[in-house]
Amino acid sequence: KVVSVTGASGYIASWLVKLLLERGYTVKASVRDPNDAKKTEHLLALGGAKERLQLFKADLLEEGSFDPVVEGCECVFHTASPFYFTVNDPQAELVDPALKGTVNVLRSCTKIPSIKRVVITSSMAAVVFNGKSLAPDVVVDETWFSDSDFCEKSKLWYQLSKTLAEEAAWKFTKENGIDMVTLNPGLVIGPLLQPTLNQSAESVLDLINGAKSYPNTTYRWVDVRDVADAHIYALENPSANGRYCLVGTVIHSSEAVKILSKLYPDLTIPKHGRCADDKPPMPKYQVSKERAASLGVKYTPLEASLKDTIESLKEKNFVS
Ligand code: NDP
Repeated sequence: KVVSVTGASGYIASWLVKLLLERGYTVKASVRDPNDAKKTEHLLALGGAKERLQLFKADLLEEGSFDPVVEGCECVFHTASPFYFTVNDPQAELVDPALKGTVNVLRSCTKIPSIKRVVITSSMAAVVFNGKSLAPDVVVDETWFSDSDFCEKSKLWYQLSKTLAEEAAWKFTKENGIDMVTLNPGLVIGPLLQPTLNQSAESVLDLINGAKSYPNTTYRWVDVRDVADAHIYALENPSANGRYCLVGTVIHSSEAVKILSKLYPDLTIPKHGRCADDKPPMPKYQVSKERAASLGVKYTPLEASLKDTIESLKEKNFVS
């Protein structure tokens, strides 16, 4: 069986490619620069890669560049999308590649009748950011959609890019009769397969690497291995449909710091540090686990994910 993964060099996609190869799939994988060893070496070293991994060059902003990537596939996993919190030009760096890129990939899919399903890695960034008040008794679920006006006004550019991309994907797939599933993970942590530092692992690194404060943010945590598993379930379960929030635990970064301090008493962690702002702590809330459970998702305990993240960051010399 042949499947396609866009943005295969990325943090989540690398795990997905690994699992797909382990399950015997042939993987057509897109990267922006197949000659960049930092982006491809770890993929080429995976079990089964020699026999069943094919690399393609494709850019989200280049129309038609995904045609050869999706050709002959039964499922397309669209994971490629820029994920940075700090940008100079949000439209060019985040919104255009996320939004135009998603439509480009979907347009390529309309040309290939063998494609039975498209699985898009969306985000909780496309779910929670709508200005509705959050509180411990509020349960966020798949009926929630972030509001692009709210994201724009609040300068939440990454959230804006994911919201516009997912909205466009639902519109396009409805109009063109494509069977699509979206997965909406929270902040993804856990071991890195790739040699470079991705944004969500950097968020954990920022909590330990000599940080004097922690952000006033209630994070929605989920393990990268659980997210990769969910992608496989979305392919292999014919009745999978709609959106799936993927969040194991919701806790404030201050609580994550407490867990990290217990796990690593010797690391410089802002144990006695303070919140980055003087506002009241961002409230806790709940994220429904029902649909994810129906897909077969089981969540790794947060403490284990945090530990595995730090061990991986240490191994790759990111921890100073
Ligand atoms: P990474 O930064 O590790 O991966 C992003 C991937 O997107 C890279 O492979 C990158 O390719 C590719 N990409 C970016 N811009 C372009 C472009 N113009 N053309 C082609 N490819 C491009 O991030 P993650 O693995 O964390 O994210 C993967 C997906 O998961 C994204 O859609 C992200 O929004 C989503 N997500 C991530 C979460 C997280 O916490 N990590 C949470 C929720 C959703 P290249 O290697 O060439 O730069």
